[in-house]
Amino acid sequence: MNHFDLIDGSLHAEQVALAEIAARIGTPFYCYSTATLVRHYTVFAHALEKAGLDATICFACKANPNVAVIRTLAELGAGADVVSEGELRQALAAGVPPGRIVFSGVGKTRGELEFAVAKGIMQINVESEPELELLSSVAAERGIRMPVSLRVNPDVDAGTHAKITTGKKENKFGIEWTRAHEVYRKARTLPGIEVVGVACHIGSQLTEVAPFREAFLRVRDLVAILRADGFDIRRLDVGGGLGVPYEDETPPHPDEYAAAIRDTLGDLGCRIVLEPGRLLVANAGILVSRVVYVKEGATRTFVIVDAAMNDLMRPALYDAHHAIEPVTAPPPGTEPVPVDVVGPVCETGDTFARQRLLPPVKAGDLLAFRTAGAYGAAMASTYNTRPLVPEVLVKGDRFAVVRARPTYEEMRALESLPDWF
Ligand SMILES: *Cc1c(COP(=O)(O)O)cnc(C)c1O
Repeated sequence: MNHFDLIDGSLHAEQVALAEIAARIGTPFYCYSTATLVRHYTVFAHALEKAGLDATICFACKANPNVAVIRTLAELGAGADVVSEGELRQALAAGVPPGRIVFSGVGKTRGELEFAVAKGIMQINVESEPELELLSSVAAERGIRMPVSLRVNPDVDAGTHAKITTGKKENKFGIEWTRAHEVYRKARTLPGIEVVGVACHIGSQLTEVAPFREAFLRVRDLVAILRADGFDIRRLDVGGGLGVPYEDETPPHPDEYAAAIRDTLGDLGCRIVLEPGRLLVANAGILVSRVVYVKEGATRTFVIVDAAMNDLMRPALYDAHHAIEPVTAPPPGTEPVPVDVVGPVCETGDTFARQRLLPPVKAGDLLAFRTAGAYGAAMASTYNTRPLVPEVLVKGDRFAVVRARPTYEEMRALESLPDWF
């Protein structure tokens, strides 16, 4: 469910015509819908509530770190899951209380740990023994014990794309399942660490509930072992990863996901921390681009648009599918034709869709790429010295540019010529 619909043949974000935004700020741009963000958060939170879970929802900011997006979710009660100091600063700037922020990631630096400890965030999910030792010394220097969950790697197959699966033992994430108890024992001896729970995150864009169940049952077993050994385990962080429909996937409804958590972990008396990213923001965003040329190739038609792989990397990186549609609906009865939708970047990988059926388009037409709110703008770069793609947030009949398109002067401002020239 989202709030990008045709009104009188023109695609709108809530009550704002995308063509109007394009006329005002140019293309390409991302557009997010407040009502859709609110809806996704509410459905998710309600599912957990119905399942009777004591839940803290920490939005995985890496899916969409725009401060206005984080703020929209924070106003509904969301916390934040961050993976860098930059994201932690975004979450704080968006008004997320430190007591609702979790810090995840395999490579947190000393500087990042110092910043997180100083801000007094809720919890750090530690992924290795060296990190545990470093964090202990950072916290002990301040005379505090930092609340910690160890992220364990439950060695389950999430059944998702190889580049976004994280819970297999050959992945770099988490502490190996079989060694977890030993590392917990070590954590107990460190002066700057307070063990509060167990964390896991097995991958992204999961379309089945079974791998979650399998992982949660392993967490359950570990909780029993740890409690028998005297650990006060009171928080379970189940990660993120619930998928969204991009094409014909049918991911589990949040109700089904919440039931899996309740069935496997619900009776342990723990607070459940969740880190959904994609689920909350993917369908709440689209990328709008303008057709630059239609080029008839030897064997196919290329629709060349002004967005490129640097703006939306998912097709090039993961062979991801994004639905594409004209912003102005074609007359009824228009026959679609197969085209390749490509960007202007000098790489064959800069292809959004191959042999996609689209109504005939011409130069100047606007196209919308759906389900682009997660890992879209977040992954954008300036490759080919293209300005970073701007972002717009719509609320009802209003819209605001929430990240501006930089000027070329701004882009060059951080560069300089050495004095030997
Ligand atoms: C990426 C990530 C998430 C969010 O994953 P989604 O698939 O976007 O829900 C949550 N937790 C951790 C540790 C992550 O790395």
